[in-house]
Amino acid sequence: MPHLFDFSATDGSDKDLLGGKGAGLARMTSLGLPVPPGFTITTETCRLAMNDGRVPPDLWEEVDLALARLEDMTGRSFGGGPIPILLSVRSGAKFSMPGMMDTILNLGINDDVLETLVEWSGDPHFAWDAYRRFVQMYGDVVLGLDASLFQDVLLELREEAAVADDSELSAEHLEAATRRFQAIVEERRPGGLPTDPREQLQGAITAVFSSWNTKRAIEYRRINSIPDDLGTAANVQMMVFGDLGDDSGTGVCFTRDPGTGARLVYGDYLPRAQGEDVVAGIRNPLTLDQLGELHPKCHDQLLEIMSGLETHYRDMCDIEFTIERDVLYILQTRPGKRTAAAAVKMAVAMVEEGLIDRATAVGRVAPASLEQLHRPRIADHVKLSNAFATGVAASPGAAIGKVVFSSDEAVIEERKGEAVILVRPETTPNDIHGMAAAVGILTSQGGKTSHAAVVARGMGKPAVTGAAKLVVDVEAGMARAGGNEIRTGDLLTIDGSTGNVFIGSVDVVAPESPPELQQLLGWADEIRVLQVWANADTASDAAAARNFGAQGIGLARTEHMFLGERLQVVQRIILSDSEEERATALKELERVQIGDFEGLLEAMDGLPVVIRLLDPPLHEFLPSRFELEHEMRLDAKAGRPIDDLQSMSEHVARWEEDNPMLGLRGVRLGLMVDHLYRMQARAACHALVTRLQAGGHPRLEIMIPLVADVEELIRMREMIEEEVAAAAAESGLELKVPVGTMIELPRAALTAGFIAKAADFFSFGTNDLTQMTYGLSRDDAEGLFLRDYMDQGIFASNPFQTLDRAGVGRLVRVAAKEGREANPALTLGLCGEHGGDPESIAFVHELGLDYVSCSPPRIEGARLAAAQAALAAD
Ligand code: PEP
Ligand code: MG
Repeated sequence: MPHLFDFSATDGSDKDLLGGKGAGLARMTSLGLPVPPGFTITTETCRLAMNDGRVPPDLWEEVDLALARLEDMTGRSFGGGPIPILLSVRSGAKFSMPGMMDTILNLGINDDVLETLVEWSGDPHFAWDAYRRFVQMYGDVVLGLDASLFQDVLLELREEAAVADDSELSAEHLEAATRRFQAIVEERRPGGLPTDPREQLQGAITAVFSSWNTKRAIEYRRINSIPDDLGTAANVQMMVFGDLGDDSGTGVCFTRDPGTGARLVYGDYLPRAQGEDVVAGIRNPLTLDQLGELHPKCHDQLLEIMSGLETHYRDMCDIEFTIERDVLYILQTRPGKRTAAAAVKMAVAMVEEGLIDRATAVGRVAPASLEQLHRPRIADHVKLSNAFATGVAASPGAAIGKVVFSSDEAVIEERKGEAVILVRPETTPNDIHGMAAAVGILTSQGGKTSHAAVVARGMGKPAVTGAAKLVVDVEAGMARAGGNEIRTGDLLTIDGSTGNVFIGSVDVVAPESPPELQQLLGWADEIRVLQVWANADTASDAAAARNFGAQGIGLARTEHMFLGERLQVVQRIILSDSEEERATALKELERVQIGDFEGLLEAMDGLPVVIRLLDPPLHEFLPSRFELEHEMRLDAKAGRPIDDLQSMSEHVARWEEDNPMLGLRGVRLGLMVDHLYRMQARAACHALVTRLQAGGHPRLEIMIPLVADVEELIRMREMIEEEVAAAAAESGLELKVPVGTMIELPRAALTAGFIAKAADFFSFGTNDLTQMTYGLSRDDAEGLFLRDYMDQGIFASNPFQTLDRAGVGRLVRVAAKEGREANPALTLGLCGEHGGDPESIAFVHELGLDYVSCSPPRIEGARLAAAQAALAAD
């Protein structure tokens, strides 16, 4: 197998081998588009290099042959004259990882080539700029020198020349920059910068392959679940120059608006610039319409190509282009990153336009992104004239947080539980961790296609970019706009839907979701097999869940109904010595529980409602002994009686556990504290009767938590059946109340065949099942060390977020199979946090459970994920 392919040698269909960028270049070349020629070194070569610790030695021979073909094809020469070829060397993995890996531009230059470049272009400014960019990039990317060494030189030169932008430096300044850069490199890495263009190329290709394993690339893959063993391709391509005078420039465009999905072309263009300048957001760009005024012919040609590419790829494309002396070149195309709203709108529109079918549309939208659609926006009454700054609406949604000026700071604050807004002049790929930690991003530079905008959209975070009046001083920890300033720690609100930024926190409101969403979800519903139920504890949550399309309540946690004022009543039930006081407290609770249950059954009328009996770790319901004793001391000092407190403290001591999560919880509490579960069962039956008498169609089911042994369930079932029979006798109605259990202990999963005989349904409580299987506290581990475990690659993902297939998943599989064998009528659901996680949903689909149950905001995503799981399985 060859290590490389010319762009013109394949049709670009093998993305695994050529990477996304290489495949796109080959495809565009085969379509006859104006793509500068070049070749792609395969991902397989990168994998070989990773395995062997060096690139395959026969690669360089193939590279030499490819260069010779390139010279033939273009009539130019690499490392010579009269027209020199400079090269770009770019990474390009199968999945787009924008800006995460290395790129080296203007490669193939030395003092001799510079001379020919000056002659050919007639423009020393251009030639020296190419030279200084090359030395800078090679030093930074290939030799790993600190980028700020070079930035400091440019800063000094800009100050000396009294200009704001590198492009305004004179040829002499650029020459001085080049020489100083060479000296910096020579001092730190003597002989590290080759003058031989072929050696430069070898160094660059090796560096691009190595950049697959930089910290930021690994981090990006972790955030985006991209496998680590794919490797990247390296694309070597003839440079065309956007900085060859005023009739040249470079840009990025989208075939539809990546923010809204509207069928409008969208793009940024920078005259007299190289491609990296647009993405870096260093200068604020022109629009495509403005490009049309400068280069009408290229503009028309670009629009035609954009439309052709969209029809060809049947998707919104993100295209990089360069205009060299009024001639248009296309450098790259890929499916464009988009917001959730845009993804939904485009997917539905493309079905209507006949571009794609419904199944493709359903597969186009990331399920987890749908939550973005319910992101708040700034309320209409907030006066825009109060805005502190305004920039480009780069990624929609409003975010409120404390200002930080560095990515490291963002991470530190986020770990303390603070919501932060990352404020930067611009972001670079080195900010990926800070952007992931922040709730929103604000930059003073860059357009809608800048790094900050693209990455924020990909992450689904609100972002405002290019707030041109904002002057950000990172060192001083402050930013200024107009007469106002913000400092580290100040509260800031940004609105990525409008581009407005406000000091402090302003009112935000819930958004309306795009009308196309219902259509897309309707298609998903036709495809999916898994049902989607909701975890909801209140009537209003249940109503919201129903609106999102929930097909029932899979988990109503009754302990949440016992908080607030009701807590003291519960404490009386558990702690009181007096039979009478306990009975009164129970009656009081029963009355309020009836109301809770009626509300749930009414909101979900016609659909199943699974009420889970009480499951608190006991300590959450009892007063703290520490506080009781503190109060006692105060009262004693003040001469007040302390008998009651003392007795309470003694009672609390009796129930105290070292390990409450492994203690008197769930069904154990139900069995040990008389009447508590019975009261709940009675209240639920009462609510059922009331709803039936009101003409409703309530479908009550009762679930027992934390069962480890079938005997626990048998006893609780008997008790519930007594209550159901009593309610039926009293009302004269026929009542049917299925009784089931959570499967959330390994022993329950392993003895599911026995438990299933006493159960009408199982609901896998994968939060506890994960906790108990790993022996890992779900309350503590995430804060303490789980993140480190993932950073160090010990765990590939957080098992509390994505179901561990091999361990916890195996228990679910065994329990589902043996449960169904013992009781073929058994209904199977899953109600842990994993019920809303797309990867876990795919696993649940494979196992053939009946439903997942998740929190209301995740229901739409779960419907979509269930459909995608069904499509993937076909
Ligand atoms: C579970 O353990 O997965 C579950 C849903 O119950 P809870 O989170 O209330 O313990
Ligand atoms: Mg649980």
